[in-house]
Amino acid sequence: MTNELNGTFGDFGGTYLPEFLAEILGELAEKYDELKVTEEFQNDLKALYKDYAGRPSLLYYAERLTKELGGAKIYLKREDLNHTGAHKINNVVGQGLVARALNKSKLIAETGAGQHGVATATIAAYLNLDCDIYMGARDMGAQKPNVYRMKALGANVIPVTAGQGTLKDAVDIALGAYAQDHEDSYYLLGSAVGPHPYPTMVRDFQQIISEEIKAQIQELEGKQPTAVIACAGGGSNALGAFTAFIPDENVELVSVEPAGKGANTDRHGLALGKGAPDVIHGFKTLVLHDEDGEIAESYSAASGLDYPGISPILSMLKEKGRISLGAVTDKEAVDAFIALSHLEGIIPALESSHAIAYLFQDHGDKYTNPDDVVVVNLSGRGDKDVENVFENLM
Ligand SMILES: *Cc1c(COP(=O)(O)O)cnc(C)c1O
Repeated sequence: MTNELNGTFGDFGGTYLPEFLAEILGELAEKYDELKVTEEFQNDLKALYKDYAGRPSLLYYAERLTKELGGAKIYLKREDLNHTGAHKINNVVGQGLVARALNKSKLIAETGAGQHGVATATIAAYLNLDCDIYMGARDMGAQKPNVYRMKALGANVIPVTAGQGTLKDAVDIALGAYAQDHEDSYYLLGSAVGPHPYPTMVRDFQQIISEEIKAQIQELEGKQPTAVIACAGGGSNALGAFTAFIPDENVELVSVEPAGKGANTDRHGLALGKGAPDVIHGFKTLVLHDEDGEIAESYSAASGLDYPGISPILSMLKEKGRISLGAVTDKEAVDAFIALSHLEGIIPALESSHAIAYLFQDHGDKYTNPDDVVVVNLSGRGDKDVENVFENLM
């Protein structure tokens, strides 16, 4: 059964951690439940959304994309226009306020490609908190611009050389550092994954996306969309774009996962599409496995989508039949990246390009009615991806 108070969502979610860490997070969950209903916290959050993140983000009618596709009117929710260029800022302002309310002096986070590290370093600077970002040594070499961004923002970027020197290893080391220093520090997770209360908390802070879409599309079109489409790595921008629509059964919610080199290869990230229940990073969800039943490595050219698990909330919504699933390959995403750039003068993040690419696939007559309205969540801007696209992916 779903019980948001202990963070279970159907068969998924929960907390699967050593006792001392589970206790620390249990306290965090209690404090968050108290905090989130106070007027002061909600007012501070609203002020940061508006004055720092730059919300509300535009809901933009993509006229040339609509003409090109020849069916439903396509709107883009412009999360790429937020401060720091993606939806991740919504989450870090919320968790930053939680950390401040708990009188913590330091934020700890881990990062793969560096996007979440930059977002965390940003809010740490704004709130005058110390910031330790754990990053695989190999990732640091591959993502120099983001390492320099974090340093410019005043964060300590700590190289992790254990294991493969990538995100998985950085998670373990960062959690260890947090366990040692939990009196003074706050662990800031970047997506709607991990043990309770993170999936709930991150969903709550991203939900503003769908609340805005609802009001904006009503204003622009006088009705609600037939579908909302978003890419899913951990699932935070998708849950952000979906949550306010979940009770509206006639709004289709499409979660687009990375099919990488192909859904029938072992190089993809289709956790919802092909995963099975398992425990990963302290929570239960649908997870990719190899032939031996071990948790498999995921793959996507879009580093933000490259995760073998998925939010337990999306796993539950899939089991309930409330969301539809999409699967988009690297190649389809790159084609959509170029198409949207040419058609609209908007360079989407490679992650967001997966959601755009879904529209170019054949879905029968689903999105062909010009009276229908479809909203795609443009989770971030693609400046970070142009070099990789032209040097490696074309
Ligand atoms: C990090 C990121 C994602 C993937 O994260 P979710 O939690 O699945 O939203 C998607 N798009 C962009 C632009 C990102 O930076």
